[in-house]
Amino acid sequence: MKTRALIVPLAAGFLFPASACMENPVVGEEAPQALEVVGSPGLEGESPRGVYVVFDAEDAVSEPADPDVGIAFAGEPIIIYMNKTGGTYTPGANDSRNNRSSIPSTTSTIPAWSVSAAGWDQVMTCVKDLWSPFNVVITDVDPGQTPHFESVVAGRPGDVGMPQGVGGVSPFTSDCSTINNSIVFTFAEVYGTNYQAICETVAQEVAHSFGLDHEFYCQDPMTYLGGCGAKSFQNVNAPCGEDQARTCACGGSTQNSVSMLLSRIGPAEVAPPDVSISRPQTGAVVGPGFVIEANVAAQQTVTQVDLYIDGVFSSTVNTQPYVFNAPTTLAMGDHVVETRAIDEGGNTGSAQVSVTLSDDGDPDPDPDPDPDPDPDPDNDIGGGTDLIGSCSAAGGGSDHGFALILLGLGLFLVRRRR
Ligand SMILES: [Zn+2]
Repeated sequence: MKTRALIVPLAAGFLFPASACMENPVVGEEAPQALEVVGSPGLEGESPRGVYVVFDAEDAVSEPADPDVGIAFAGEPIIIYMNKTGGTYTPGANDSRNNRSSIPSTTSTIPAWSVSAAGWDQVMTCVKDLWSPFNVVITDVDPGQTPHFESVVAGRPGDVGMPQGVGGVSPFTSDCSTINNSIVFTFAEVYGTNYQAICETVAQEVAHSFGLDHEFYCQDPMTYLGGCGAKSFQNVNAPCGEDQARTCACGGSTQNSVSMLLSRIGPAEVAPPDVSISRPQTGAVVGPGFVIEANVAAQQTVTQVDLYIDGVFSSTVNTQPYVFNAPTTLAMGDHVVETRAIDEGGNTGSAQVSVTLSDDGDPDPDPDPDPDPDPDPDNDIGGGTDLIGSCSAAGGGSDHGFALILLGLGLFLVRRRR
């Protein structure tokens, strides 16, 4: 069995004793006193490991989170700046806007990472993907004085006074609060071209600055465990810990990284489903049990589409095609047909058409020139389907021909209504 201290008090000499043997740093702000380092470097032959350094919140945070909302910037997307160009960092309460970090205990310079464009693309794509459920913007353009989290992806652990085998480091507060404008480090040079590992280390280090602990759960980027494929934040109550389960930094025995990040950052802003009704078209005269088809475009998975008639729920379809039959009990006359799509995030979008129900109306006023994939239960189309089918087969000028047919049909129906 490997022996390795999982939680290393500074007194054990994991780091050199904070500010014990150095001149005052350039900026005149004292290096914050680290309370402990959680995690451990990879041993020889092992992968580098991300650690976090615990500070008193008042030492580590230059701009406290709003305690009322629990979301770092009150609902605005949080900017995460992926910095591969390095920089010079002075000790102090973390502030990405001024390159002040509680991690180095003396002014420290990290050289740029000379990664290929393709390699950097891979890292950026992976990081964007891992954080996509949350209300963040991932950029590699320095936001300057705009509040942001900075993820340095460059250099080696020794550049900021960390020992070999450390793959990344983040500050962490003793009360697990969010460190706004934090600076976290992923030591890209020690990973070479293992861009996936770099991406997952970035995820772990940035999440530490939102108060997330390590998880003893292989699929999550907060873990030390490996060999289970690509990681993503898991909506699972997982044990905390590195090489074994332990109590979480802020109490309890489990952590759910997704729910914790959602509570601190908020969900990604997702456009609601875009819904249209392809049949019937508004103003159509329709027959009993008429067919309704909704088309839905959505960023997230659509879980259901509901049909409402005159504001009253009628029925639900869960998968495409979103085709309904109006209830045959509907009274003759004018009706408002509405379809509402709901995505997995609970976002809704809807569309409406107004129709007139008549015994003489078309039960399937299908304007779709493509062959109809839907087996209409009433099989009530008769010549209509054939007409449209042959129109589609005509190819080239079918749009015009189709419009003429619609026009003719409309005139016919209007005439019939008199
Ligand atoms: Zn870590």
